[in-house]
Amino acid sequence: CMTEPIQIIGVQGLPLIKKGDDVAALICDRVPLGEGDIICIASTIYSKAKGYTRPLSEITPSERAIRLGALNGEDPRFVQAVLDASTDIIMEHPFILSELSFGHIGVRAGVDQSNIEDGMVIFLPPDPMKSADEVRGRIREITGKNTGIIITDTCGRSFRRGQTGNAIGWSGMQAIRDFRGDTDLFGHVLKITEEAVVDEIAGFSNFVMGESNNGVPAVVFRGCPKWTGHDNLYFSGEEDITRRVLKKEWS
Ligand code: GDP
Ligand code: MN
Ligand code: MN
Ligand code: MN
Repeated sequence: CMTEPIQIIGVQGLPLIKKGDDVAALICDRVPLGEGDIICIASTIYSKAKGYTRPLSEITPSERAIRLGALNGEDPRFVQAVLDASTDIIMEHPFILSELSFGHIGVRAGVDQSNIEDGMVIFLPPDPMKSADEVRGRIREITGKNTGIIITDTCGRSFRRGQTGNAIGWSGMQAIRDFRGDTDLFGHVLKITEEAVVDEIAGFSNFVMGESNNGVPAVVFRGCPKWTGHDNLYFSGEEDITRRVLKKEWS
């Protein structure tokens, strides 16, 4: 049951992030964090701070990257970066859709050319769960507070137009609120409903961040109700109907 209003605070005044920056400390300097706050951090700044970036000029495209670059009208070196970040290609055209090592499936493997210098690409962090743990630990070290961390990325989706923010790594919370076994207002037992809370919070944080020149790569949520469930956010290959059909189409 909720009593206090939920506060949502965009973190203003962060600099352009460079390799070696302590993102947790930079956030703590700008917003006094409280016990139980949830902090969404754009994967873009986490990756820039860790150096998960590459200049296109240092990438040599393979034959496959050259072929897919021509097919999709993209720089073959960018395509090579996407292939390098992928563990399984699900679809090749009109854009590459692929799986990453940590289970996320994304358009162009989440490789990003926005909000970084010309000629550079940003990769998603290779182990975003570990990244979220690390940021949470660092914030506890600085402030003594237990917070929740969500590393986000803007992602496309099936069935509907428009990108939304998704959680790609989280710590200090469970990904999913499990309603199975709960009863509705009429006493019916819920059999199916699992709510992807980390994606919902990431989605609203994305709205506060924006996509362009807002300069707000972190958002604090204060006063969210607690939930319990599990962390099994990613479908396995067999469970995922959409992926099965797409792979059949492209194999
Ligand atoms: P992504 O969704 O992780 O790919 O991140 P975006 O490129 O969409 O950026 C999300 C938000 O962070 C936007 O408000 C950007 O202007 C902002 N942003 C990106 N990089 C930086 C940075 O280095 N410093 C600051 N202050 N803001 C940034
Ligand atoms: Mn971006
Ligand atoms: Mn991105
Ligand atoms: Mn974005």
